[in-house]
Amino acid sequence: MELDTQDVEQRVSTGALPGWDAVEEHVAAAYERSRGATGGVVADYIPELAAADPDLFGVCVVETDGAVHAAGDAAVPFSIQSISKAFVYALVCDALGHEVVRDRIGVNNTGLAFNSVIAIELNDGHPMNPMVNAGAIATTALMPGGSPEAQWHVVQDGLSRFAGRPLELDEVVYASEAATNHRNRAIARLLESYGRVDVDPLAVVDVYTRQCALLVTAEDLAVMGATLADGGVNPVTGEQVVSQEVCRDTLAVLASTGLYERSGEWLFEIGLPGKSGVAGGIVTVAPGKGGIGVFSPRLDPAGNSVRGQRATAYLSRALGLNIFASAAHDAPPDGSTDGDRGGAR
Ligand code: GLN
Repeated sequence: MELDTQDVEQRVSTGALPGWDAVEEHVAAAYERSRGATGGVVADYIPELAAADPDLFGVCVVETDGAVHAAGDAAVPFSIQSISKAFVYALVCDALGHEVVRDRIGVNNTGLAFNSVIAIELNDGHPMNPMVNAGAIATTALMPGGSPEAQWHVVQDGLSRFAGRPLELDEVVYASEAATNHRNRAIARLLESYGRVDVDPLAVVDVYTRQCALLVTAEDLAVMGATLADGGVNPVTGEQVVSQEVCRDTLAVLASTGLYERSGEWLFEIGLPGKSGVAGGIVTVAPGKGGIGVFSPRLDPAGNSVRGQRATAYLSRALGLNIFASAAHDAPPDGSTDGDRGGAR
């Protein structure tokens, strides 16, 4: 597609969060209002994930000025799982550029489950979507480094820079998934057969399995999300982790694909780019404003945290984050609609 954007400066269009006290209050309210939701089930297809305490629940918002607001179990570690896909994608985009990643991986929703094999077949071997397993494995294969071990270190280091602290591997979760991930190995072999993975497919799955077993907290996810909200600068460490353009591209992909086959419903209800993982984490990004990290292990049938979705929906609405929401230009600034509209329009 030929677009007239090459030499046009990227201007940004974002608002501000309400003041510190209001954000603090709403994070506490998001936790209180959703803690009673006990629907959903803990993932068990990775045996070790079934051991998670289903009652854990943490909520955190990190603003682009570095302010942190946390409630509940926001400091409890869990494996990042599919949320890693968003950040590995950003790192690969940063290394290889917009066009290469768009052409090699794709940016479209498959409309099928995260571990779908048929999605590859239906698209002539094109992985289509970097936020489901096929596209994520193909993305990890593009990671710079030259060897699987070096690629793993680039992934671990890159995700740690997003989080602003060194992230550790959960050896038990890694071993548990490595012993049972036959489906992901099949996906990698299928991609190889279509010429979509140039390196050893099983070695790539091993790097991918490790990236999914990195331990994070809800607070880490909020910092990682806030980095994508802040033009690629980690608001806590001040480090430029990826470029401003990479944040924009990554968030566009998350908006259409971050919640698997429920991405449309998520955008309709919450109106923000987000990414979920099967251990119960969700990261959500409000461009220019901040990141939301939530964690609770009970999942809906698509693999998204039930409480996490509820808490994020509340925050999106209460903090004015939905990127599609607007008010008439002469309406009162609180967004209410009973103002005197007056004036020529
Ligand atoms: N490691 C998991 C897998 O590949 C991640 C899936 C997820 O979080 N949806 O199956």
